[in-house]
Amino acid sequence: MKVERRDVLKLGAGAAVGGVVAAAAPAQAQSRYVIMPMPQAAVPIAGTDQLFPVRRIYCVGRNYLEHIREMGNDEREPPFFFQKPLDALVMDGKPIPYPSLTKNFHYEVELVVALKSGGRNITKEKARDHIYGYAVGLDMTRRDLQRASGDKKQPWEIGKSFDFSAPIAALHPVDKVGHPREGFIRLAVNGEVKQDSDLKAMIWNVDEIIANLSTQYELAAGDIIYTGTPHGVGPVKAGETMTCEIVGLGKLTTPVVAPLA
Ligand code: MN
Repeated sequence: MKVERRDVLKLGAGAAVGGVVAAAAPAQAQSRYVIMPMPQAAVPIAGTDQLFPVRRIYCVGRNYLEHIREMGNDEREPPFFFQKPLDALVMDGKPIPYPSLTKNFHYEVELVVALKSGGRNITKEKARDHIYGYAVGLDMTRRDLQRASGDKKQPWEIGKSFDFSAPIAALHPVDKVGHPREGFIRLAVNGEVKQDSDLKAMIWNVDEIIANLSTQYELAAGDIIYTGTPHGVGPVKAGETMTCEIVGLGKLTTPVVAPLA
């Protein structure tokens, strides 16, 4: 059976409301794809049954001064970017397995910004026009492997861009919460507060992050950006639960469970 362009578009529409592309029309999909296509990565919109489809996950490194100091890094160096794979996203309340190869699995609570449109060379004055909303996120890190790759001048992927490394809570649209630029950002492990800072301590604020990132890549609708973590990072073990909270954006709860067999 021939697949027409309108059928592909229908698949897309199904994904937007149902969240599972492959289930929308498997017979048609199988006629051209040699394996089942991956479902569209998506994040729920708070208080609705709607979904935000994700195109890319960007992350900012070293965007809070006290965190640069606790890590022993050069505080004169500007923040920078890296990426995580789409299937690293983990929804609120879902457990993450303790990852392979590490003995130092770290939490990093972060404000996540989601873009409804994009472009190149976006000015910081225009950045807000491109923002759909905000969420609480976790940039989970295999710290020992990240450090080892840095020491060897190798890429950061093994420390940052692994399975289950990007927990995220529901997105809050700008028309509900505005643009959070100050207020608490916190993380607790089993109820004990480990990270406790303020969004205004960011070195690059969200508008500057979008402006800087858009000089490196053409940004697009569906891109999300983890905006860096404040000080207080540390290890988490299987059996512990992380609870993150950012002013106006609710909570993200992420239990850590035993490694996969
Ligand atoms: Mn981070």
